[in-house]
Amino acid sequence: MTDRSKILLSSPHLGGHEQKFVQTAFDTNWIAPLGPNVDGFESDLQDYSGVPHAAVLASGTAAIHLALIILGVKQYDEVLVSTFTFSGSVNPIIYQGGVPIMVDSEPETWNMSPEHLENAIVDRLTKTGNVPKALILVHLYGMPAKLDEIIEVCKKYEIPIIEDAAEALGSSYKNRKLGSFGDMSIYSFNGNKIITTSGGGALLSNNEEWIKRSRFLATQARDNYVHYEHSAIGYNYRMSNVVAGIGRGQMLVLDDWVEKRRTINSFYRQLLEGLDGVEFLVEPNNDYFSNHWLSALVIDESSLGLDRERIRLHLLADNIESRPLWKPMHMQPIFSHFPYYGDRLSERLFHNGLCLPSGSNLGDPEMHRIEKSLNRLLLKG
Ligand SMILES: *Cc1c(COP(=O)(O)O)cnc(C)c1O
Repeated sequence: MTDRSKILLSSPHLGGHEQKFVQTAFDTNWIAPLGPNVDGFESDLQDYSGVPHAAVLASGTAAIHLALIILGVKQYDEVLVSTFTFSGSVNPIIYQGGVPIMVDSEPETWNMSPEHLENAIVDRLTKTGNVPKALILVHLYGMPAKLDEIIEVCKKYEIPIIEDAAEALGSSYKNRKLGSFGDMSIYSFNGNKIITTSGGGALLSNNEEWIKRSRFLATQARDNYVHYEHSAIGYNYRMSNVVAGIGRGQMLVLDDWVEKRRTINSFYRQLLEGLDGVEFLVEPNNDYFSNHWLSALVIDESSLGLDRERIRLHLLADNIESRPLWKPMHMQPIFSHFPYYGDRLSERLFHNGLCLPSGSNLGDPEMHRIEKSLNRLLLKG
């Protein structure tokens, strides 16, 4: 009997250790946005990433928001950001009243192009007399961006980097974990990410003062008095000790989940890479190690003889979810009036690209169903 239940793009995958930490929180009555699981999860993330200071928070978006506040981004300040990303990378710039300067991708990693980045900086300098206040650099689908080149450009113009590694926990570049390259870095533990706490995020930095500041701001900016005293605007952005227990359990399986997603990626490549008009997002060389959070490909319609939507709808008819590549931020109605630099590569990726089911909890029966479905359309077999 075949199970026809829906195969999802990326769904939560618990490892069996999570409830133990959550139960301890209940048993000890640490049901609050502080406690041993919060401390323990922060220390796990520090050990894993090699970054000495981490604060766990309500979401990845909250982590980016606090990073911008700590870097002093205020109204009308310009902030560079990858256009090929999810809106959570850009919204916090608007929370601060800032101006997103969107930079397009390069073809190898699909992440921010160092050339377009430098063009953007030079043009902003010419037009406004200032370089942007910060850069939010995204590693989409787990693929490391061209870090050496981007870091060199940012050093030259003294622009701090916020590394958005929301999709890239477990990836590395030149044997160093992503999330350890930014002046500040963020992870997300939303339900669809490589590990999840049901919802959550983290901010990391080598700068201890910044991380202390983020914890202060994330807990309503309470000054050190017996009564409630405030000299700054605070936020309620801290992660709860219950949720952090899920995170501690998930850290025990993170490397296994990375391996599983990489196996799924190899599976798709073996199945489809021979086809004319199918091109996968792959690591350019051995400096790049992707967690392959989502397996992504682009279709050349004229070579393959069908377009992306045809494949997506075919899979959907077999109860298999896939999704177009992310719609670039400069194409979004809410952001389209902000400055954009690039050659529209991300637009072509959006129109022709597809993410395939990549969850670490996909078993052999599911992979077999996906294989049969793709074969029926693409190999006519
Ligand atoms: C998920 C995601 C975010 C936001 O993280 P949340 O925890 O959902 O707030 C930011 N940037 C990217 C690239 C993401 O994929």
